[in-house]
Amino acid sequence: MAVEVRGVVSRGKGQPVTVERVVVPDPGPGEAVVEVQACGVCRTDLHYRDGGISDDFPFLLGHEAAGTVSAVGAGVTGVVPGDFVILNWRAVCGICRACARGRPWYCFDTVNATQRMSLTDGTPLTPALGIGALAEKTLVAAGQCTKVDPEAPAAAAALLGCGVMAGIGAAINTAGVTQDDTVAVFGCGGVGSAAVAGARLAGARTIIAVDIDRRKIGAARRLGATHGVNAGVEDPVAGTLVLVGVPTPDMRMDMPMLDLFSRGGAVKPSWYGDCLPSRDFPMLIDLYKQRRLDLDRFVSETIPLELAEDALAAIGRGDVLRSVVVF
Ligand SMILES: [Zn+2]
Ligand SMILES: [Zn+2]
Repeated sequence: MAVEVRGVVSRGKGQPVTVERVVVPDPGPGEAVVEVQACGVCRTDLHYRDGGISDDFPFLLGHEAAGTVSAVGAGVTGVVPGDFVILNWRAVCGICRACARGRPWYCFDTVNATQRMSLTDGTPLTPALGIGALAEKTLVAAGQCTKVDPEAPAAAAALLGCGVMAGIGAAINTAGVTQDDTVAVFGCGGVGSAAVAGARLAGARTIIAVDIDRRKIGAARRLGATHGVNAGVEDPVAGTLVLVGVPTPDMRMDMPMLDLFSRGGAVKPSWYGDCLPSRDFPMLIDLYKQRRLDLDRFVSETIPLELAEDALAAIGRGDVLRSVVVF
């Protein structure tokens, strides 16, 4: 039987989000319904609300979540009801050319649920990044569920589903940071601070946090940055450049080619931290349990679902690393 739950819906460009009744169908073949325990509010949710991602309103927001599998559809073998999972928005197909080449993080054919969740009047919802987890329950492809140790608190585990994974992965998977490296992280919000934590995990010798907001430099220092540079005051300098955020079509980059050439520079995009959820989520939860990765520090506040609009505004003001909705 389909169930009705509360979820955060964005109905139109720039309009405040609202908590609505959402219909979650029974899972079909290859699908799973997850009872969400915690979901971070990410800048991408703000982009959805502001029409920066697509015009497929109404959106069911939320894509950075952890919870418990409550039901699975036919043919699902990877997870069973009761499993504690982190949701991912790039469930790889395993058979496309990128997957076959051993680079599944570039998978061309990632999977989402086939059925749609809807409003009670039947209006289909577009789930943010194929997840839609700012809701008491959500329907996803079973491959979007990665089972992890249930000892990890949901609010901390949820953050691995997007921002923290993107940052740690940018340092470890994309940039390949290692001992004796000097790393500069430009922009130290949730993702940038995670890149600082990733560089520290990888053993970087010097980690320079660059931002124009001294609160964010302070947060990055607490996560392992050895130096802070306020770019509003001083002029920072770069080496290998890893681009983490998703650019808009009009963004361009202008750089001195001689410096790139003579210092062995490189420019790399980092797609979801080039992560493989099945490999990286359980590993990072283990590091958390061993107190080597302080995920709790990324949780600026825990809030109820009704305060999602306030949390989106806080992101816009740069006030938080992460607000996390806890159910
Ligand atoms: Zn693939
Ligand atoms: Zn996100």
